[in-house]
Amino acid sequence: MERRTKIVATIGPASREPETLVRMVDAGLDVARLNFSHGSVEEHAETAHRVRDAAGRAGRPVAILQDLPGPKLRIGPLEEDLVELAGGDHLTFVCGADSAGTARRMSVGFPGLADGVSPGEVMYLADGAIRLKVTGVRAGEGEIDTEVEVGGAVASRQGLNVPGPLDVLPAVPQDDLELLGAGERMGTDLVALSFVRSPEDIEHVREHTRLPLIAKIEKPQAVQRAEEILAVADCVMVARGDLGIELPIEEVPLVQKRLLAMAGRLARPAITATQMLDSMVTASRPTRAEVADVANAILDGTDAVMLSQETAVGEHPVGTVAMMNAIALHTEQALPYQHWNDHRVARDDRDPAYTVAHSACVAARELKLAALVVPTLSGRSARLVSAHRPEVPIIALSPGKETVRRCGLMWGVRAASMRRHEVTEDLIYDAARRVVELGWVAPGERIGVTAGLPSGRPGTTSLFQVAQT
Ligand code: PEP
Repeated sequence: MERRTKIVATIGPASREPETLVRMVDAGLDVARLNFSHGSVEEHAETAHRVRDAAGRAGRPVAILQDLPGPKLRIGPLEEDLVELAGGDHLTFVCGADSAGTARRMSVGFPGLADGVSPGEVMYLADGAIRLKVTGVRAGEGEIDTEVEVGGAVASRQGLNVPGPLDVLPAVPQDDLELLGAGERMGTDLVALSFVRSPEDIEHVREHTRLPLIAKIEKPQAVQRAEEILAVADCVMVARGDLGIELPIEEVPLVQKRLLAMAGRLARPAITATQMLDSMVTASRPTRAEVADVANAILDGTDAVMLSQETAVGEHPVGTVAMMNAIALHTEQALPYQHWNDHRVARDDRDPAYTVAHSACVAARELKLAALVVPTLSGRSARLVSAHRPEVPIIALSPGKETVRRCGLMWGVRAASMRRHEVTEDLIYDAARRVVELGWVAPGERIGVTAGLPSGRPGTTSLFQVAQT
């Protein structure tokens, strides 16, 4: 059986060599994540080109995910590489400056920050390791005074987390929109938006692109409004790194479970991200707890598991992908397919595509079909079938190369290209022929095919046919 859970890996200095990328694709990489918080546009364009090459050589589609930085706050440069802060120290932030900082005074790029925080609030540096309490704000001078509650080492241009509402921050920075344009020019397939706070943030970016948008849930406000945000987004990412700073860390596992269940109800593909196999940044094997974390995310219904540092800067980029593959393959044997078929997705009584997707899973089970074949123009029908979690393989066939790649994030979907057909009978006949040609179904097997009338128009799926290959 093919692996059903998808593997997303961040491509960075440890993995951008062409040979490494080919080995990662062979080991199971489905989606290459380019993190635009680091590196130049030129570097990402070259990486995207290499990913396409590696996918071509391996003969497997690989989607490219552009992860935009969003309104992330960062401190400016420091006079020394590392600055030590101790509990009880006083540290002032100078907002809107980029001057070299010290342990007493640091700059922050965003000028309006002093208008958005109040005494008593907390801020974090060093991925949450350093905790600061705001003791005073001099908005006129753009200065924030803090006291260090928990100390540690700070490096130049590190992220600064301010868990409060921070309405002064732009929802979508102009820089993100420029990066979005650059990403489209290099042929990215999916876009992740960081620090989303409201559904309007997604709708705003939607005006600038037709690419599928992934809402990264990493702010408390986003957790509160998750249902509205997921309703307008195409996919969701449980971004546990920032979530574990912005929320008390012990709340993250239950938030993850809630978001994954919600994504299932709304039929939105979900990615579980950050520190999944973190010890493999250096070690050749993960800890038991990490293996259990990956397995539990799969049992909770995640579509994809994501590697960050492990593949971007780690010592075993190929080994971590292979480890994800092994954990997924084993864990998937225990998924509650039948229960998910019937109860995972909230069906929409205005849209027959949901009922067709559900019925296809029931038919696959009762008739012991070899596969569900889903011709799809936009990828939507494949997404709906995938969300119901059939036990048999889902094969998406599309005339659009972009759609074929986008299916890379959808649980259980194997995708390939096929000719466009205007006549539904021709479409079903050719779909059955194509899956045999691909070698994915043996001749003479029974398959289920979903289709729409009129054929060739997106959003019309309303038919299900049992066919023989
Ligand atoms: C996260 O915070 O978990 C995340 C995926 O976002 P980033 O790596 O961009 O901080």
